Amino acid sequence: MRIGFGTDTHRLVEGETLIIGGVEIDYIKGCDGHSDGDALIHAICDSMLGALALRDIGFHFPDNDVENRDRNSADFLIYTVSLIKSRGYKVGNIDSVIHIQEPKMNPHIEEMINTLANIMSINNDQISIKAKTGEKVGIIGRGEVISVDVIALLEKV
Ligand code: MG
Repeated sequence: MRIGFGTDTHRLVEGETLIIGGVEIDYIKGCDGHSDGDALIHAICDSMLGALALRDIGFHFPDNDVENRDRNSADFLIYTVSLIKSRGYKVGNIDSVIHIQEPKMNPHIEEMINTLANIMSINNDQISIKAKTGEKVGIIGRGEVISVDVIALLEKV
């Protein structure tokens, strides 16, 4: 077995679409980012890449490449899953924490799990998504950013 950690932070700005875990969430702000800004998917990719010491998402998909502009992050996830598969590993389980003050994540978590499990071809019970506010302090609490932490356990096939 191999374990990996991933983290990602994006600024929350007005006029952008908020996409978390492949789910579009109706809110006044969205993620600033070169791709679609899906911090949860980016952190999941980094956790799996980290588990096999395969660098990070920016190494595989440079943010100065125009091809990656506004790119659907599902592409990154599909690529990463196939990469770990090609190295002889499969996902054991993923555990994640979304740090965001607003909006409430709870109403969307089930859909995120369904969406991600579907993209990754794993079962829903292999992916856990939790959410925390920033208690109204710091950059999370003031609603300036979304930040996500993820750990992944990979199993040798
Ligand atoms: Mg990112």
